[in-house]
Amino acid sequence: MTSPANRLADIGGRIARAAALAGRPPGSTTLIAVSKTHDADTIRPLIAAGQRVFGENRVQEAAGKWPALQEAQPGIALHLVGQLQSNKAAEAVALFDAIHSVDRPSLVTALARAMDAADRRPDCFIQVNIGDEPQKGGCAVADLPALLASACAVLPVAGLMAVPPAGLEPAPYFALLAKIARDHGVSGLSMGMSDDFETAVTLGATHVRVGSALFGARQ
Ligand SMILES: *Cc1c(COP(=O)(O)O)cnc(C)c1O
Repeated sequence: MTSPANRLADIGGRIARAAALAGRPPGSTTLIAVSKTHDADTIRPLIAAGQRVFGENRVQEAAGKWPALQEAQPGIALHLVGQLQSNKAAEAVALFDAIHSVDRPSLVTALARAMDAADRRPDCFIQVNIGDEPQKGGCAVADLPALLASACAVLPVAGLMAVPPAGLEPAPYFALLAKIARDHGVSGLSMGMSDDFETAVTLGATHVRVGSALFGARQ
């Protein structure tokens, strides 16, 4: 079970079983293969195995490796899962099909302007600092209603995204994010990584972001 293609099949099976356990329809969770730090030679076998949705956390790194890969294989969707500086909004809008890290009013404004200029509208997820951790990205839970309202007015908001606190049982945080999304009528839920994606699927994740379980450990 060591090739990326084998790992992909294994993870797909685990997502399907978790969905079935929770009574969710098959195919209701999108697997984002987070390829940050990995080069094109490492990524190509996953593309060959049929994976079409990938995630990166840096605009610059993605701009360096993905245009060539996308030219070789049309139909690949690229998701930005890392923090985004407002001055890179235009580049992010040009490159990505979804942005999971919208977490402050200034970024909402910058993305709206960039989307209007480019006439291109990637799906946006509002990142929530679900554990209210001081050092972490994401909008404070208390600030979410205002941010969500202003974002929904100008951006194609697809859902909420969160990374629960490290080292704690993630399920309560996933359940809280799902409840907040429900309360606000938002349908997308980007939650779950290599160590906890099955839990996230049982609690309603529409997108899981899996890196090391697919590609092996990063440097
Ligand atoms: C790197 C990263 C992931 C993937 O993490 P793994 O633990 O390697 O699966 C998911 N989400 C975000 C925001 C990341 O930065």
